[in-house]
Amino acid sequence: MPISPMMQHYLQTKEQNPNALLFYRLGDFYEMFFDDAKTASDELGLTLTGRDCGLSERAPMCGVPYHAVDVYVKKLIEKGYKVAICEQMEDPALAKGMVKREVVRVITPGTIIEPTMLDETSASYIAAVYVQKTRSGMAYCDLSTGEFCVCMCDDLAHLQGQINMINPNELITNDLQTVKRLAPGIPISGQSEENYKYNNASRTVRQQFLKNVDELGLADARYVVQAAGALLVYIESTLKSTLSHIISIDRVETSKHMFIDANATRSLELLSTISGSKKGSLLSVLDKAATSMGSRLIRNWIEQPLYDKDEIEKRLTAIQEFLYAPIALAALRETLDEVRDIERLLSKIACDSESPRDCIALLNTLSLMPSIISSGSEFTGKYISELFGSIETLDELRDLLSEAISPEAPAMLKDGGVIKEGYSQELDSLRDISQNGRTYISSMEQQEREKTGIKNLRIGYNHVFGYYIDVTKSFQSLVPANYIRKQTLANSERYISEELKELETRILGADESARRLEAALFAKIRDKIKDDIDAIARIAYAIKTIDALSTFAYVARENEYIRPSINTEGVYSIKDGRHPCVENSIGRNEFVPNDTNLNSTDRIMIITGPNMAGKSTYMRQVALIVLMAHIGSFAPASEADIALTGRIFTRVGASDDLYGGRSTFMVEMSEMATILNSADKNSLLLLDEVGRGTSTYDGLSIAWASVEYIASEKCGAKTLFATHYHELSELEGRLDGVINYRVTAKEEGEDVIFLRKLVKGGEDRSYGVAVAKLAGLPKSVITRARQILARLEVDDLQKGTIGQSILDKHTNGGNKQIAFTEFAPLQLTEEIAALDIDGFTPIEALNKLYELKEKARRI
Ligand code: ADP
Ligand code: MG
Repeated sequence: MPISPMMQHYLQTKEQNPNALLFYRLGDFYEMFFDDAKTASDELGLTLTGRDCGLSERAPMCGVPYHAVDVYVKKLIEKGYKVAICEQMEDPALAKGMVKREVVRVITPGTIIEPTMLDETSASYIAAVYVQKTRSGMAYCDLSTGEFCVCMCDDLAHLQGQINMINPNELITNDLQTVKRLAPGIPISGQSEENYKYNNASRTVRQQFLKNVDELGLADARYVVQAAGALLVYIESTLKSTLSHIISIDRVETSKHMFIDANATRSLELLSTISGSKKGSLLSVLDKAATSMGSRLIRNWIEQPLYDKDEIEKRLTAIQEFLYAPIALAALRETLDEVRDIERLLSKIACDSESPRDCIALLNTLSLMPSIISSGSEFTGKYISELFGSIETLDELRDLLSEAISPEAPAMLKDGGVIKEGYSQELDSLRDISQNGRTYISSMEQQEREKTGIKNLRIGYNHVFGYYIDVTKSFQSLVPANYIRKQTLANSERYISEELKELETRILGADESARRLEAALFAKIRDKIKDDIDAIARIAYAIKTIDALSTFAYVARENEYIRPSINTEGVYSIKDGRHPCVENSIGRNEFVPNDTNLNSTDRIMIITGPNMAGKSTYMRQVALIVLMAHIGSFAPASEADIALTGRIFTRVGASDDLYGGRSTFMVEMSEMATILNSADKNSLLLLDEVGRGTSTYDGLSIAWASVEYIASEKCGAKTLFATHYHELSELEGRLDGVINYRVTAKEEGEDVIFLRKLVKGGEDRSYGVAVAKLAGLPKSVITRARQILARLEVDDLQKGTIGQSILDKHTNGGNKQIAFTEFAPLQLTEEIAALDIDGFTPIEALNKLYELKEKARRI
C-alpha cells in the first residue's frame, strides 16, 4: 500500500525541520506524528492515538486544538524544544486536491514574539556568539522590540560575564563546546561555520543595517560582524519573514559596564532569590515601574550596571530632580500608569500584525503624551529635558486613529466592526445595507404594491433563485412587463425583476464587501502607523527611561534612600548602610544599620562573629549598595561615597552546582580560582566562609593563603571576608591592609542575643552551641556538645592556636610573602589530589592542566 500523499508531505516537511517538533495543521487541530507525537504526549500529557497512513503500522499521533496552541507551544519551549508550525495555506473547503501546507514559523526559546508567551517584565534575547580561540564577538537581539546590539569580548571570562548580563533565552554559536561550558542551562545550538563566514555575514549585516553599520566602525571587529550575520540568518529562518523592525545596530562598549559574574547575580539575589522567587530580590525592591517597558528597563539596568561616572551621575541627577518635585512626580506616575507597551508593539507594526485593539492601545497612549509632556515642563535638568523633549504627540496619527478605529474594536480584524462609523461613507452604506437588508426588501415590497396595484404582492426568498416576487393567480393581469417569470406554483407565480436582483446583490454582497473594504482601510491605517515607526520607537525609549528614573525616585522616597557620590579613588565609605531586601522583609525599624570603610590603607575586612550574627547579610548589603550606585540608583544608607568599581565577585554560601554536577568543595575552589585570577584593584570581593567545605586545616590554609594573595600587589582588590576561622584575625597588623571586624552578639546565660552591630576587632569564639540551642536541638545533645567543646578548647590551648603556628613560621622567615609561597604548593598538591579525573571531559582536563600549570608557574 502506498503512503498517503498527506503523509508523504508530512515526512518531507519533517525532514526539512529535523530539530523541531512539527505541529502539522489538519483542520481544527495541530497533529504530531511518530517520535514527535511520543515526545509531545509525554511532555504535554496528551493521549497518544494512531493514524492509518498507508504504512504497515498505524503512525503514532497526538494533537492539540488550534485555538489553544500557544499554551502547548509555550510549555514545550520552556522545556527547551523548538516547534515548527505547519499551516494550511488555503481554505480546505475550496482546495482542489490536497490542501497546501507550509511551515510558517519555527518557534524557538529566543525567537518568541507572541505576547501571550512572553514575560512582559523582562527582555527576551537571542544571542549569537562567534568564538575564535579566546576572543569572541557577540550579537544579541530582542525580537519583540527590535533591539539589536553587538559587543566584543577579549577573553572567555569576559564573554561569560556578558552572557550572564543579558541572560539570553537561547544561544547560537560556532563553538558549541566552549559556549556550553560558559552558559550552562541556556538552550544552545551549534551552527555551521558557513553562517559565520565573514563575507557572507558581512553581506547579511549590511543588507539589514544599510548605513548604520558603517557608523559603528564595525569593520575593525570582524567577529562581531560574523556573530551578527549568523544571528540575522538564524532569526530569518525561524521567523520566515523579513525583520523590518530591526532598524539599528548598537555597539555596546563593554568597558562602560561593570562586570558581575553569574555567581554574584545569583548570590546577591539581584533578579530572584536563591529559592527562585522574584519576591525578596533587589529587582522586586526596585521594580515599582508604572509600565512594563519601565520594568524591563529596570531589570536591564540591574543586569548591566554602569562603569562610567558621568553616566551614573546623569541618572542620579535626574532621580534627584524627580525626588525634589513630589507632586509633579506623583502626577507623572499616575499618567504613566495608563501608558501601554508600545515598545513591544514595534515588532507587530513592522510585520503588519498589529490588531485593532493594539491600535486602540496606541491611540490611548498617544493621547496621554500632551499631559506627560506638560508634567515634564516642571523639570529643567538637561537629561530629563532631553527625554521629555524627544516625546512627540504624533497628532496626525492620533487623530487618524481616533477617527478611524472604533473604540469597541474586536481583537481580530476578521471579526469586523473595526472601522468607526463616519470614517468612510462607502463602508457605512455597505454596513447599512447588510444590516438593514430586510427593511429594504419590505420597502421595495410596499413600492411594488403601490406601483402595480397588486395588494397581496409579496417578496420572498429561497435558496434556488434568491429573492422573488410572489403574485397570486387572481392578480396575474396586473403583472408589469418588466417582471420575469421564474416559477409556477398551484396558486401563484414567482417573478424576479432587474431592480430586485440588484438590491439582492447589494444586500448579499454587502457583508463581504464591507469586510473587504474594512480590511483595505485598516491596511492603509497600518501603513500610516508604520510611517511613524521611528517616532514611536523614540517615544517608547523616552517613556521607559522616564518611567525607570521616576520609579527610582519613588522607591528612594518610600525607602529613605540617599544619593550616593561616586569617587575614583577606591574609597568605599558607607554610613548606616542597610540591606534593601532584608530591611523590607523584617521591617525598617528592626534592621540594624552598619558602616563600611574601605580605602587604600584598609582594604580587607576580616569579619568574624557567631553563626546567624549577620555576617552574610552585611557583606551582601555592601555589595548591593555598591551595585545600586552603579545602576544609578539611590541607596539604603545615610551617607555613601562609592568607588567606581569594575567588577564584583562573590563566593557566598555553599551552593551545589546543579549543572556541572561537581562537589560543593570543588565548586567553591573553582570559583575561588576564577576570582583570584581575575580580581584586580578595581574589584570588590565578597568571600563568605571560604574553605568551609573541607577539613579545618585545609580550609584555614586556603583561606589564609587567599587573604595573603589578595593583600598582595598581584590582586589588591577591596575585600570583605567573612569567616568562622578566628585564626584569620591574627593577620591584622601583620599583613598590610587587613582590618578585623566582628558582628556582635552577647551571651545571657546559655543563650545568645544578636546585636547585629559591626565593630572593630576580632571574635574569639563562635557561639555555635548556643545557636544550635536556639535552633531547637535536643537538650541532651546541647549539654553533651558543651562538654566536648570545653574539652577541645583545653586541648587547643595546650597546643597553641593553629594561626599562631602559621605566624611563627611567617615571622621566622622575616618576609611576608613566605607564608604564601609555603602554602601555595601545598594547596596545589591538595588540589591535584582532589581532582576527579574520571568526571572530566577531555577538554575540561586540558583546561584544568593549563590552570594548574599557570598556578605552578606563579608559585
Ligand atoms: P551569618 O552569616 O552571620 O550566619 P546572616 O547574615 O545569615 O548571619 O544573618 C542571619 C539573620 O539575621 C538574617 O536572616 C537576618 O534576618 C538577620 N539579620 C542579619 N543582619 C541583620 C541586621 N543588620 N539587622 C537585623 N537583622 C539582621
Ligand atoms: Mg553566613
